[in-house]
Amino acid sequence: MSKGIALVTGGAGFIGSHLTDGLLGLGYRVTALDNLLTGREENLAAARKHAAFTFVRHDITQPLPDIGEVDCIAHLASPASVIDYQRYPEETALTNSWGTIQMLRLAVKHRATFLLASTSEVYGDPKEHPQKETYWGNVNPNGVRSCYDESKRFAEAMTMVYVRKYNLNARIVRIFNTYGPRMRKNDGRVISNFVNQALEGTPITVYGDGTQTRSFCYVSDLVAGLVKAMTSRDAAGEVINLGNPEEYTVQDLAEKIKTMTHSSSAITHNGLPDDDPRERKPDIAKAQRLLGWEPTISVTDGLEKTIAYYRTLS
Ligand code: NAD
Ligand code: UDP
Repeated sequence: MSKGIALVTGGAGFIGSHLTDGLLGLGYRVTALDNLLTGREENLAAARKHAAFTFVRHDITQPLPDIGEVDCIAHLASPASVIDYQRYPEETALTNSWGTIQMLRLAVKHRATFLLASTSEVYGDPKEHPQKETYWGNVNPNGVRSCYDESKRFAEAMTMVYVRKYNLNARIVRIFNTYGPRMRKNDGRVISNFVNQALEGTPITVYGDGTQTRSFCYVSDLVAGLVKAMTSRDAAGEVINLGNPEEYTVQDLAEKIKTMTHSSSAITHNGLPDDDPRERKPDIAKAQRLLGWEPTISVTDGLEKTIAYYRTLS
């Protein structure tokens, strides 16, 4: 018996494809909607083996095709890595603004449950640490990251308009740095860069002095949190951080990956990109309380799995 029909925008991406697999495993019928801007069809190889899976290649900023019945929408479409959204700034801003409005309208039409994949980037370069959902953030409104940060903030604002005006059953999750298999080798994020540099014996490129911090969540933990947020009644109308509070400086992360891969790579220091947040760590008390969720995979265990994955590609 089907649990319902889920639409996953960005379903061919890194997180979206894992969520698709997870929902199919739970008994949902799943349609993945993706224009393959930063995603890949090969991420959906496992999903394609399910009769309950459909892939629709489409740009969500364009008029939508007939999707059929939908019970829940997980809206993940958007470039997410810093180099991706700086390569596609206009596409990113439009996807998170107009694309989100189109998905919200679709949710209202079908009375579907809606989940917005927002981001820790809405906190900008935070002046509160760790970051709680109540913190309003410190974002440069027109800097090089603003195409992403500000359009995600707009997506949050619009989602709450639909909650208040149309009584939409929506929740907003703020995803903190997530990693694992299917992250593109060259997508520019710190873990994919460092692991592949270490495996190839090329310099591990720490930007700046490496004292900035991030907190890293393994993708299966994140997907478990997304499913709980999507299905929990208590999450309706709420904003919830999802991430792993295990915090590292970028320098320590480089050294850890070098050790774990037994790499001979040098660790080099390059320029720090503009508006790079100094520190980031989620306060996950709300997710623990509302969803009964917390991560279960340590950074060491998650890195082991991720290193093993990238070894299969090299
Ligand atoms: P990703 O780039 O792998 O996936 C994004 C997917 O969206 C891609 O498959 C891409 O082709 C698709 N897409 C982009 N624009 C589209 C459009 N106009 N129409 C249809 N599809 C479109 O990135 P990801 O890491 O899987 O991120 C997924 C979501 O999670 C994003 O919304 C991102 O902002 C959010 N997020 C991710 C992280 C992280 O650490 N990975 C952190 C915070 C938030
Ligand atoms: N970073 C780095 N070297 C790299 C890639 C990233 O030092 O090769 C740093 C980056 O400057 C930032 C942190 O690692 O401080 C996380 O970067 P990422 O792009 O993965 O995510 P985000 O900045 O969006 O958190």
